[in-house]
Amino acid sequence: MKVLFVASECAPLVKTGGLADVVGALPKALTAAGTNVRVLLPGYREVMAWLSIQAEEPVEVATFGDLFGEAGRVLAVRGAGLDILVLDAPGHFDREGPIYVGFDGADWPDNPFRFGALARVAVEIAANGLSDNWAPDLIHAHDWQTGLIPIYLEERAAARVPVVFTIHNISYQGRFSAGSRRRLGLPEAGFTSEGYEFYGQINFMKAALVGADAVTTVSPTYARELESPAFGNGLEGVLAARAAHGTPLTGILNGIDEEVWDPAVDPAVAPFDVKHLSARDRGRQGLAAEFGLKLDRAAPLFGVVSRLTEQKGLDLLLADVPRLVSAGGGLVLLGSGDAALEAAFREATARYPDRIGIRIGYDEDLAHRIYAGADVIAVPSRFEPCGLTQMYAMRYGALPLVARTGGLADSVIDANDAALRAEVATGFQIEPGSQAAFSDGLERVFALYRDRRAWRGMQRNAMRHPVGWDKAAGAYVELYSGLLGVG
Ligand code: ADP
Repeated sequence: MKVLFVASECAPLVKTGGLADVVGALPKALTAAGTNVRVLLPGYREVMAWLSIQAEEPVEVATFGDLFGEAGRVLAVRGAGLDILVLDAPGHFDREGPIYVGFDGADWPDNPFRFGALARVAVEIAANGLSDNWAPDLIHAHDWQTGLIPIYLEERAAARVPVVFTIHNISYQGRFSAGSRRRLGLPEAGFTSEGYEFYGQINFMKAALVGADAVTTVSPTYARELESPAFGNGLEGVLAARAAHGTPLTGILNGIDEEVWDPAVDPAVAPFDVKHLSARDRGRQGLAAEFGLKLDRAAPLFGVVSRLTEQKGLDLLLADVPRLVSAGGGLVLLGSGDAALEAAFREATARYPDRIGIRIGYDEDLAHRIYAGADVIAVPSRFEPCGLTQMYAMRYGALPLVARTGGLADSVIDANDAALRAEVATGFQIEPGSQAAFSDGLERVFALYRDRRAWRGMQRNAMRHPVGWDKAAGAYVELYSGLLGVG
């Protein structure tokens, strides 16, 4: 079974969030399950730089004269344990700055054409194959950037392959002015409320939800949440229509790459494993030294690694900083995003420099050190399709304090009395979006931290909790097989 993954991010080549981790890891698990996967990505400047340092010379496997006014070609290379296909189209992707937005924080104005080009190329690969004699049996497309694939496929009779579309976060839909419709080559007939139109605009994600053969999302709880307007962001009706036609949304819980994320061999951290947990203290001390913190041994050090957006609920943590500090706790936060949140966390560190350390920015190695050194990783999200940080935390022996929503609800076993008695608890769950619940969660964390035996037991449970990709890979293979009528 040959599968073309199409996505706008892939770790370790280019990453802004969890999508990259999934696209960088799931193909490996699918390969282990007998599937042949190639991953098509935009050739952003950082991806081209990555290509240039690979041991293997990239091979040109397709060329395109006109992708919305820009020339492009596809380069194939094997690297990072993946079969990568890069869409080298400099006019679209070779530019200074972040991948979705300019330095002013506004979307690149040509985003519909940049990602429209990615979708077009995926469809051409399905129609014509690549010059190394490879053509996919199925396309697995990820998030709005790939949303036009089903529409373009519809027009290419030669390219009738099934499309699986995965929603990683429905709050980013790729909505663009209707004025782009003609240039994107989108049929007028589809510009209706049953099609890709959404309140007078073009909606890339909606195009996929209408046209894909199967739609999945990244946790069973998020799949259920997406049925309601509170989570569906206006697309709940489209999902309900799919369900009525017998193709309901399915939730398949993400995993993490257990080879990349292994505290015993991770080059970014002082090594430890579940049998040598005391060695983990060095990570805590290292973090304290790095941020100039004076920590109380009897109280937990909280860590946060996150985009700073309303979604992540970190305003709840911010409001409880005085409570956390007065109880003896500390905090290290790595993140960037919303300017007001960045400023508020800077103020918190200015107020409590011995207890609170902040790094605004993106830093992969520091993220690893935080998972390895913090006692608790806080993820109080208002909604969370899957969330990966709680899984990295567990694997590194930091107990997650999470909101009971989406994949957070599906991956963390709350330290309630039953779970503690059965010795299966791996973290703490709280009601989402509630300050009182967050404060209550903090109290539970502090109380349990004082019980060293119970805490150590939970750390061991967390580190042993299955967070790999095997189960999800099996579910995807079953889905692909069903669509292809094999197996
Ligand atoms: P989302 O995709 O909504 O951002 P996830 O929890 O699914 O949330 O994935 C976030 C990923 O991005 C994790 O791998 C996390 O470690 C990483 N990450 C988030 N912010 C930063 C940052 N500032 N520096 C380094 N890694 C980060």
